[in-house]
Amino acid sequence: MKIVAAKKILKANDQIAEENRARFDAAGVFVVNLVGSPGCGKTTLVEGLIRQWGGRLAVAVIEGDIAGSVDAERIDALGIPVVQINTEGACHLDAMMIAAAARDLDLEATNLLIVENVGNLVCTAGFDLGEHLRVVVLSVSEGDDKLIKYPAIFQGSHAMVITKMDLLPHTNFRVAEAIAGLKRLAPDARAFQVAALRGEGIAELAGWLAAQQAGRREPRRRS
Ligand code: MG
Ligand code: ZN
Repeated sequence: MKIVAAKKILKANDQIAEENRARFDAAGVFVVNLVGSPGCGKTTLVEGLIRQWGGRLAVAVIEGDIAGSVDAERIDALGIPVVQINTEGACHLDAMMIAAAARDLDLEATNLLIVENVGNLVCTAGFDLGEHLRVVVLSVSEGDDKLIKYPAIFQGSHAMVITKMDLLPHTNFRVAEAIAGLKRLAPDARAFQVAALRGEGIAELAGWLAAQQAGRREPRRRS
């Protein structure tokens, strides 16, 4: 029997993540790792951003799901290059999966690559994919207590997007509390509020992401 410590696996992942980042940098691709619970609205957010950019950025998408390709089909319908990763049970993406998926994309023709991670607030926090920014999505129906229960995912993120703001009156979600929690965990992280199906708040987020892509001002996430 052989026991491989989780620490060793994470170290190997970090090495491949650095290789991914070097490859993305060489091709001029800015990469965003989008994380959040199942059903928090990640794909709807990506659709809204793509519509907002309207072809001004050469966007590509990697979709991570345990099974199926429904999200990739939604991105494909917008005419955007997309690769679906099926993790076949794994509850997060890792750097090796991204390295393989990136081979199916024309990186030289891409400015911005959005990686929609598997819906999960836990172990997605531990796996650097080689991205430049990590953005965590939190819908108002999940509750503002998620920042207290799952601090690591917020700690390592550059921005938090509160989604489904149009549902706010039907929940007990406290926006100010969530933003205060973010500031405690990640003082430099930005907070955005969107109602993606109504297109509200999308322009501000799209503008910020485009500025990050253009300037690459954000420091790399430390693991
Ligand atoms: Mg999705
Ligand atoms: Zn996992």
